[in-house]
This record gives sequence, structure tokens and C-alpha cells, in this order.
Amino acid sequence: MSKKIIIAIDGFSSCGKSTMAKALAKKLNYNFIDTGAMYRAITLYFIRNNVRLDEAASVVNALENIHLHFELDPATEKSDIFLNNENVAQYIREMTIAQKVSEVAAIKAVRVFAVKQQQQMGKKKGIVMDGRDIGTVVFPNAELKIFMTADIAVRVKRRFLEMEAQNQHINIEDVMHNLQMRDYIDSNREESPLRRADDARMLDNSDLTPDKQLELALKWVEEVLEHTYSSSK
Ligand code: C5P
Repeated sequence: MSKKIIIAIDGFSSCGKSTMAKALAKKLNYNFIDTGAMYRAITLYFIRNNVRLDEAASVVNALENIHLHFELDPATEKSDIFLNNENVAQYIREMTIAQKVSEVAAIKAVRVFAVKQQQQMGKKKGIVMDGRDIGTVVFPNAELKIFMTADIAVRVKRRFLEMEAQNQHINIEDVMHNLQMRDYIDSNREESPLRRADDARMLDNSDLTPDKQLELALKWVEEVLEHTYSSSK
């Protein structure tokens, strides 16, 4: 039996979930899925096609026309998301998407659409998935669940620098406002709100370097592998 597990990483916006998920996946030779990218790509489609969020039929019809897949770019080692065979990785990070994505992600039909695909991707295990509902809804039986947090000031600074690096020159107050708004909507929506699964391990990385947090997560992986497979050795 191959010793593979599912690692579910959840938490607030800009806590460094994807950075850690990506590093873990690389180290373990697992697949990494950034589920936020899926909700962002759906939002991009909705904006481009003027889909009315308050019209259930329009939403359902739009979802029928959306095909998402990920492809690894060997040069950048990044997994890019494709919307109907178009690489949209660069567009989904724009502020216009960040302003709308939480509203789109709160729609039940959208969540059912995304979750079904996410569950399919994890069927063979060996996956690190990050998002808001991975440990609670997508993989409630994931062997390792991590809930990440960081101080809001740290998160704002990180996201601000990330956007600057992408040549998006945004006011730092706007970044703060967007993170707070998304955290609020994500935590208070009716459909699978963001919350820590009871069995998730907390990781506050306000004062941790990426290397230190990876070290900690790898220790947890070892513990879980030991526990999960010790009886089948
Ligand atoms: O992770 P990221 O910040 O890119 O996610 C963008 C948005 O997508 C979140 O603010 C949230 O509204 C939504 N999302 C979600 N469930 C997930 C992942 C993301 O609702 N599993």
C-alpha cells in the first residue's frame, strides 16, 4: 500500500496557505490544489459574461459552460488554472476578482460545482489542498488538517507586497479592506462557512519563516503517517 494521505489546509485570506501547501506538496511529491483559484476563475467567467448572481438559472447555466483544469508550468513550477482551456492564472489575482469572489463563492450551486471536482481530485490521496472548507466539507476525513492564521497586519503586508510584485499598485488600505471583507463574508455565509475543523491543528505563522512552518508541518505529516499506517506495516 502506498503511504499517501490527504492534507487539508484552511484559514483566512493571505495567511500563506498556498505557499505552505505548495512547499509541502513539492517536498512530499504530492499534488497541490489551490481551491481559491477555482473560485476566482469562476468569478472571472461570471464577470466576463455578466452573470447575474441573484438569478439562479443564470448561475446554473453559466456553470454548465465552465470547464476548469490545472496544468503545471515546469519553468515556474507553478500550477496554473485554465478556464475553458485558457490560462487565466494572471487575471484571477486582480483586485476586481478579489472584490467579487467571496460573493460568488457564497452561492450554493457554485460550491457544489467546485467541491465535486475537488473531491474527485483527492480520490487517489497524495494531495495537499488549500481553501476555506477543505477540512470541514471537501475532505472531512483528511488524515491531516491544518488551520492557519496570522495577524491581520502581517497578512495585509504580505498581500500588498505580492500585488506590488505583480505590478498591481494598490493602496494598502484597500488591501486591508478587501481582506477584512472576504474574511467576514467567508466566515458568515450560510453555505460551508470558514471555520476550523475540530480536529485541525492550529498554525499561527505571524512570526514563522516559511522554512520554519514547513518544518513544523512536515513533523505533523510524519506523525500522521506513523499513526495511520503503523497498524498496516
Ligand atoms: O484562497 P483565495 O484567497 O485565493 O480564495 C479566494 C476566495 O475564494 C476566498 O476569499 C473565498 O471567498 C473563496 N474560497 C472558498 N472556499 C475555498 C477556497 C476559496 O469559499 N475552498
